[in-house]
Amino acid sequence: MKTKRHDWTKEEIQAIYNQPLLELVHQAATIHREWQRPNEVEVATLLSIKTGGCTEDCSYCSQAARYHTDIKVQALLPTDVVMKHAEKAKNNGATRFCMAAAWREVRDNRDFDRVIDMVKGVNDMGLEVCCTLGMLTESQAVRLKEAGLHAYNHNLDTSEEYYNEVISTRNFDDRINTIGHVRKAGITVCSGGIIGLGETHADRIAMLTTLATMEKHPESVPINALARVKGTPLENNPKVDVWDMVRMIATARIVMPGAMVRLSAGRIEMTETEQAWCFMAGANSIFTGERETLLTTPNPGVSEDMQMFQNLGLKPLVKQQPVVS
Ligand code: SF4
Repeated sequence: MKTKRHDWTKEEIQAIYNQPLLELVHQAATIHREWQRPNEVEVATLLSIKTGGCTEDCSYCSQAARYHTDIKVQALLPTDVVMKHAEKAKNNGATRFCMAAAWREVRDNRDFDRVIDMVKGVNDMGLEVCCTLGMLTESQAVRLKEAGLHAYNHNLDTSEEYYNEVISTRNFDDRINTIGHVRKAGITVCSGGIIGLGETHADRIAMLTTLATMEKHPESVPINALARVKGTPLENNPKVDVWDMVRMIATARIVMPGAMVRLSAGRIEMTETEQAWCFMAGANSIFTGERETLLTTPNPGVSEDMQMFQNLGLKPLVKQQPVVS
């Protein structure tokens, strides 16, 4: 019987992470085949419904108001515009539609009422709806759930120890609290992190340990490579090594076998061969973007991704398989 473990120690995860790369990928690929349909990849579309002007200071983010980036600030989009984007995403084969607003936290105001309408509308189209709106209270999570929200994205970003080096306007516990509110409301959790922030391997392992020891693993675990945006404090960080991405994805797959592991930001800088390694290591979800952007940074376009799927013998996941817990 397949069982998920929630009692991983940092040392155990470190031992998995530090294996010779080919051994690690082989182990991850084997587990991937036991738990998932390896030729199916979830295709999600991400739309920024409110862009820029954020009061937080996440040092990787182009949308923080305090950094001088080329971002075009955009107030909350009208609901009918969002519906048109969702319809188009559905026609392009997306099964999940994610809406992102650059807010520190959700406020109980008319903008939130509009987001609730958007969630209802996209849900009625038969798409899985996901939102990322910043910090949430328990009652706001319940409202989103009642509107039909399927998943809420709230990344840990990095380890608890390194968190304050990256963001000073909130702390790691704030993240954990919002994830708790989302869980309690019965919404599935999408939570992962970013590599390339200047963190150590120990930080990456610590972040994976936090995720893999949650009472319930996040249903989706995005692994992002830093998109080095001009004007942000991290613009001159070195490019993330593809083998570091493969190592993170493989480790995430082994310790959270039932999760959708998403190859997220940074894909634009990867060749098809490098992405194939990530799929081999257990990634089974991607964002593919209309307007060819992932929020505000470039991402491969839909047709490019479908060509890659064809080349690799992959197909978009139609319906998520049930996972034994
Ligand atoms: S990552 Fe989110 S919370 Fe942080 S600055 Fe960007 S939009 Fe704001």
